[in-house]
Order: sequence, then structure tokens, then C-alpha cells
Amino acid sequence: AEVKKIEFVKSSARAGDCPKDGRPEFAILGRSNVGKSSLINKLARKREFALTSKKPGKTRLINHFLVNNSWYIVDLPGYGFANASQSSRTDWSRFTKGYFLNRETLVGVLLLIDASIPPQQVDFDCANWLGRNNIGLTFVFTKCDKIKGKQPNDKIKHFQDLFSEYYRKSPPPWIMTSSVTGLGRDELLCHMSQLRNY
Ligand code: GDP
Repeated sequence: AEVKKIEFVKSSARAGDCPKDGRPEFAILGRSNVGKSSLINKLARKREFALTSKKPGKTRLINHFLVNNSWYIVDLPGYGFANASQSSRTDWSRFTKGYFLNRETLVGVLLLIDASIPPQQVDFDCANWLGRNNIGLTFVFTKCDKIKGKQPNDKIKHFQDLFSEYYRKSPPPWIMTSSVTGLGRDELLCHMSQLRNY
């Protein structure tokens, strides 16, 4: 499940413009500042992997990165910008919802949740929407190195309980990660490999 090569392929404005080669893909999604770039850098084992979504003018695009010539990591725009206008929020949801509902090669969504702060309403809204639309979801808790105290698992359990209302048949899988310590990196890669081989 190791990442041997990761390369930027393209930015797309709509689901219809995304690569059409049929390779499986995972979308990475979360609030801005959740630690998405750091996690992708960690997966790629690079310090500064240029995340296209952070470049001015590219923030509203669907960005495809090809891993090992065989599957994609898709970087979606962050949600929950504190200063976003209502119209840009509406744009965000229309645009990303179009992607989720129309992308046949989407294997699953990695929903990044910042474990170092209380759960946010936008995270619940997002999990809820994905759950209702039967889109495969994995909770990826970020910044787990910042959880204070002896029982990080208790904290994550608490998050899981809060999100449990969105579980349908069985709880979505969840993985604890830290881009500082590397916690969860290999587990996440293994998890994606298993999902691809279903
Ligand atoms: P993005 O906006 O979601 O791409 O978030 P970034 O990757 O840019 O990270 C936002 C901030 O959180 C930065 O200051 C990072 O250094 C910090 N950060 C990201 N991941 C971690 C982590 O695992 N542990 C800690 N302690 N800080 C992190």
C-alpha cells in the first residue's frame, strides 16, 4: 500500500470535467485548516507537496492527484471558512454535491475531523449529507497528537458517539492520524487499499 509516486493531474471545475480513465478515487474533504495539506504531504512523504487547492484561483476546483499510476486522491475545497459569504457557501455546496452525486469512480470520502477542537456543526452537516446520500465515508481524525490527557481513545469515542446519528447499518470506519508523529499514515493507506480491492 506504499505511495511510490504521486503526481498532480488536473483541476476540474465540474464533475463532468474530471479524468475519465475509470481509475478509482478517494475524495479528501474537511474544514479549512483541518490539516488536509499536512496529511496529503505525509501520505506522499513530502514536506511541501504543492496543494493546488491552496493556490489563488484554484480554491474552487476539484484537484486530481494520481498515485502509483493506479488510483486518485482528490483534493476538494475546504468548507466552513469563517469569513465566507453566504453566496460562496452556496457555491461550495452546489459544486461539491454535484461531484459526489455524479462521480462513479468515487470509492469513498475521507472526512477529516480536527480532533484537537470540539466537533463543529459544519462537520455534522457534511457527515449527515454524505450519509443520507449513501456515500461511503471514513472519519479521519487529524491532529491527534494534540489530544491532551491519557485517553485519546476516549476522546475519539466521544466524537464517534456524537456522529452516531449518521450511521446507518454499521458505523463508518475511523482512523486517528497525526501529521506530526505520522500516526495513522500506514493504517490509512492500508484502509484505502482494502476499499479499492473490494
Ligand atoms: P488545511 O487548511 O486543511 O490544508 O490545513 P494545513 O495542513 O495547512 O494545517 C493547518 C494548521 O494545522 C497548520 O498550522 C498545521 O501545521 C497544523 N497541523 C496540521 N496537521 C497537524 C497535526 O497532525 N498535528 C498538529 N499538532 N498540527 C497540525
